[in-house]
Formats: sequence, structure tokens, C-alpha cells
Amino acid sequence: MASSMPVYLYKAKDKECDCDCCKQGIEVIQRLDEAAFEKCPKCGRPVTKAVVPFSPGLSRTSLDDRAKEKGMHKFKRLCQGEYEKMF
Ligand SMILES: [Zn+2]
Repeated sequence: MASSMPVYLYKAKDKECDCDCCKQGIEVIQRLDEAAFEKCPKCGRPVTKAVVPFSPGLSRTSLDDRAKEKGMHKFKRLCQGEYEKMF
């Protein structure tokens, strides 16, 4: 079920990273059998999994609200766009 896909937050390992994508945090929706991100899809620098995961079960609206609270909303959109273009 698509609604049960967990959301992971990745952040740049390098705290000096100037990438506006992974510096703020990248939200990635992944299936459980997908490999973890090792690199930012935008700048290619190494990232580390920062937070796991919003519980599957939370509504879409709730996820968006939490992203907005953290100021991550636009980065999430940007990153997903870049990510999708890679395939
Ligand atoms: Zn980056």
C-alpha cells in the first residue's frame, strides 16, 4: 500500500555543506526494500539518515504540516524533482 511508505530524513554529513537541499534535510519516501540514500540527489555529497521515520499511518496532511514547520517544504519538492529526473 502506498499509504504505508515511510518517510526518511537525510542530511549532509558535512556541516559546512552549502547545498540548499541536503543542508536543510531531504525528505525521501522510500519503500522498505529500497536502499538507503548515500548521496544527495542534488549535489552528490554524502548524506546520512538523520531521522527515522514518520510512522506509516500518519496522514499526508500531517506530514506536510510537519515539513512546513521545519521549513523543509520547498526543499523536499526540489529534491524530489531532482531525484526523479535521474531515472
Ligand atoms: Zn545536497
